[in-house]
Amino acid sequence: MLFRSNPAALVTPRLDAGLGPLQGLFAQALARAGQLYDAIPGAVLDHGVMQLARQPKDADRFARIAASDLFEASALDLADAESVARWTGEKVAGPALAQHAARVVRPAAILEAWLADVRLETVSSISPTGEGLALMGPSGAELWRGDMVAVCAGSGARALIPDAPLQPVRGQISIAPGRSVRAAAWGGYAASSPEGLVFGATHDRDDAGDDLRPSDHRRNLQTLGEGLPRLAREVETAALTGRASVRVVTPDRLPMAGPAPGGAPGLFVLTGLGSRGFCLAPLLAEHVAAQILGAPSPLPTQMADLLDPDRFRRRAMRRTGQAAVEP
Ligand SMILES: Cc1cc2nc3c(=O)[nH]c(=O)nc-3n(C[C@H](O)[C@H](O)[C@H](O)COP(=O)(O)OP(=O)(O)OC[C@H]3O[C@@H](n4cnc5c(N)ncnc54)[C@H](O)[C@@H]3O)c2cc1C
Repeated sequence: MLFRSNPAALVTPRLDAGLGPLQGLFAQALARAGQLYDAIPGAVLDHGVMQLARQPKDADRFARIAASDLFEASALDLADAESVARWTGEKVAGPALAQHAARVVRPAAILEAWLADVRLETVSSISPTGEGLALMGPSGAELWRGDMVAVCAGSGARALIPDAPLQPVRGQISIAPGRSVRAAAWGGYAASSPEGLVFGATHDRDDAGDDLRPSDHRRNLQTLGEGLPRLAREVETAALTGRASVRVVTPDRLPMAGPAPGGAPGLFVLTGLGSRGFCLAPLLAEHVAAQILGAPSPLPTQMADLLDPDRFRRRAMRRTGQAAVEP
């Protein structure tokens, strides 16, 4: 296998009771991601995720979102206590939103299907050549040159595009071999995979370590106990394995998808996917590809504006009362 990945990932939208362009973006991204993953043999482990309440205002939030027409018909609906108990195998307090259009996917199957033919190299820097851009390797040797470069390197974008305001957020999942549950999310999450029950995950800002920490398994068990206490009791003595890796977020917690900030002409970026990469990445990759090709984007302007990598510079200029000038 070429790439390291978690045994399972949830494809779920961020939920925003404001029901504005942000919720529209996630609804469109969820539909596109589901369509593409369903076409990959072995990629979809299960359909549906039960979103459990985390705070009192979730009752109203879930009801507003379920009643809206932003998502495809039958994508989500409110779940009563009985169906939550059937789904999770335990009695859970509070309202819940059944996300029928969400999925549990196997990242390795997606990576193998989409990235089987890529050339793997570490890029240390990107330099303008006068006519285009060159990718430089760790030894200083030129790896490739061309007119257009799209940096889709997760937290690696921090070094390649220093003007992008990106923050690393370490996360660790825990895996209990031989255990399973139908997928549920509540801030924490739990899902089944061929390797066992995957649950977690930790969030630690400004930590880019990918070492496995026993203390983080304990935190994940505590988080599991907040959503699914019976399951947490069942796995607390299991020999847990896991995996740690690093997310990357922007100051407004929305991705960057478009021309790179402060970058040379022809330099594009797709990063800042936070905890929703499996929902957002397919649609946003098509958005960036359309910009590179000068073709119409699948995203309406209002949604594309939310993701414009230059927005932080423009906001800073407005705050200091300066007119925003083109770089
Ligand atoms: C514990 C944990 C659990 C998560 N669970 C979920 C989940 O259930 N659902 C979900 O949607 N999201 C989840 N996420 C978030 C998800 O992993 C990210 O949103 C997603 O991986 C971001 O995709 P990306 O392609 O931008 O970056 P990455 O997945 O980080 O991929 C970047 C790639 O670029 C390569 N790269 C980096 N720098 C360079 C360089 N200089 N040169 C060459 N290559 C480079 C890397 O090796 C890597 O292959 C989770 C994250 C963590 C940490």
